[in-house]
Amino acid sequence: MKKPREPRQPREKYKVRTRLIHGSYPTGRWDYDHHVVPPQSSSATFRLTTANRGARAFQQFGSSTAQEMPIYVYDRLDEPTRGMLEENLAAAEGGEMAVTYATGMAAITGIFGALLKQGDHVVAHRALYGSTYTVLATWLPRWGITASFVDMTDPAAIVAAARPETRCIYFETPVNPTMELIDMAAVARAAGEINSGRNEEHRAVTVVDNTFATPFCQRPLEFGIDLVVHSLTKDICGFGTDMGGAVIGANRFYHPLMGYRKDFGGVLSPRNAWPILVYGLPSLSSRLVAKQKGAMKVAEFLLKHPKVGRVAYPGLPSFPQSELARRQMTSYDGKFAPGGLLYFELKSAGSVEDRVAASDRFVDFIAEHAYTITLAVSLGQVKTLIENPFSMTHAGIPASEKASGGVSPDGIRLSLGLEDWQDIIADLEAALAVV
Ligand SMILES: *Cc1c(COP(=O)(O)O)cnc(C)c1O
Repeated sequence: MKKPREPRQPREKYKVRTRLIHGSYPTGRWDYDHHVVPPQSSSATFRLTTANRGARAFQQFGSSTAQEMPIYVYDRLDEPTRGMLEENLAAAEGGEMAVTYATGMAAITGIFGALLKQGDHVVAHRALYGSTYTVLATWLPRWGITASFVDMTDPAAIVAAARPETRCIYFETPVNPTMELIDMAAVARAAGEINSGRNEEHRAVTVVDNTFATPFCQRPLEFGIDLVVHSLTKDICGFGTDMGGAVIGANRFYHPLMGYRKDFGGVLSPRNAWPILVYGLPSLSSRLVAKQKGAMKVAEFLLKHPKVGRVAYPGLPSFPQSELARRQMTSYDGKFAPGGLLYFELKSAGSVEDRVAASDRFVDFIAEHAYTITLAVSLGQVKTLIENPFSMTHAGIPASEKASGGVSPDGIRLSLGLEDWQDIIADLEAALAVV
């Protein structure tokens, strides 16, 4: 076989934005360099040259790094389209390796499965994505793994909650839906304190769900976080067509993650990996730049509107954690990158029921009359999506916890799409007139 084409300078020298478009297709195992668009592979199993070669491949699967694995054997172990996506996801986050999964939840539970065993303990932020909370609060305890939920905006609370058997420190930033931020460098320092004197096997591993910010706006590994997890379903896929999940970090996590994924089976289908590889990641930077511009315009409009109370968008100078936002949310070029999501509260009055009714009137008007804004859960698509977290995505959380977490009965979450921002504002203005 002809030697694969190599670029003028090593790929690492190019800007991430460029690498997410061009990838690294002539790998040691497979050469897709002649496809301008990488193909969607579709083969559950792969031809082996000899029985001995097959036996060796299984051994190698358990001992090689992502870059070294020499041949493909079976889709559930590893396969080409998914592998190309994993290489590019690792580049997007600045990690050594990435492992993908069927959904974001399969990635999150893949981390817990790979890191934790009976008797272990997790420290997590008190506000989490709903299913993540349910996994930690109800499923893991069935296997003897417990969690403490603390306010991780206070690093001392993390250290105070840690026990000798704490093996994982888990959070999201920005927090869903309030957009509150957690200082990642401070969490890494707290973990350093907890881990001092512990050997490798007993270390508490820090994990950030970076779905809300995307790697364009924030790269947790740069702040000393150990593992980043994503729901690829959101902004990384970007078009709302496919589900997926990914974990990115250092090579030392590769074997436990891949071994767990092989045996528990939550792999990402190459059919779902392909659109994320071909459409999602290459357009991530452009989409986020456009979304941020729209989000800023919408946030400024909401801030001035007499029927709107609090507006939480990290890009606003009035954002309470503005300094932290500017420190940890930056694009690949080092520019401030506050993202495409915002949260605001209506200035409604009365009982909790009255205030829920006001936000329901608002989103129901949008559901019926808006053209640019769609009432739907999920986020990170080309269409602007709106929801009322108190009565929708966060309905299962007890009222007292919603109150302490800042989820208001009249709170609204908005995920900016790529529509003209003036059209989005006009639709919001018409709906605000009815509350
Ligand atoms: C959507 C989401 C998840 C779960 O991802 P799925 O792909 O739906 O399984 C986890 N965390 C966050 C922050 C999310 O927004």
